[in-house]
Amino acid sequence: MDKQITLQEAITAWSDRQESLAEPTPHIPPAELYELLVPSVDQRTREALMPHLMQCPICLRDLQDLAQAVEAAEIWDLAQPKAAAEEMQWPKKILTEGGKYLVEIRRSLSQANRGVITVRIEPAYRDALEGKTMRVTDDEGRLLLRGRVIDGEVSDAIEGLDGLGSRFVVQPEESTG
Ligand SMILES: [Zn+2]
Repeated sequence: MDKQITLQEAITAWSDRQESLAEPTPHIPPAELYELLVPSVDQRTREALMPHLMQCPICLRDLQDLAQAVEAAEIWDLAQPKAAAEEMQWPKKILTEGGKYLVEIRRSLSQANRGVITVRIEPAYRDALEGKTMRVTDDEGRLLLRGRVIDGEVSDAIEGLDGLGSRFVVQPEESTG
């Protein structure tokens, strides 16, 4: 069975090599970072990504954020229609795995490629997130929503619905201080 690289191993490897010099390879896209966290990733992909990860604090931090999002079940997959006959249904309503957020994507009647995305925060988490800025990104790293939570929800206009990814991350934005 494949052994997964844990976050701790990545951090240890990185600190061991901290003295190594500038990063020669491009940053790892979010979709590939996510692959590191799932058991199905093949060994070749993992080995291809590790050298960069071990010497890039930026990507390592992204991985750490992603790992936290996964733990908190703030990441979810949008099941793609299995059969071609199965039409995409609108609006899409997705409850995240941890039951923390309900995400709804509505399509404009006049412009099929545009719409509105809304994240509703489940009552138990509302107090903690009220007034905070939330972000939703897809597996291409595309920002789909960014906005402040008011009365437990946040909405934003969305474009490019035809090109939506199949995996999304909802998370509060870190207040960088
Ligand atoms: Zn990087």
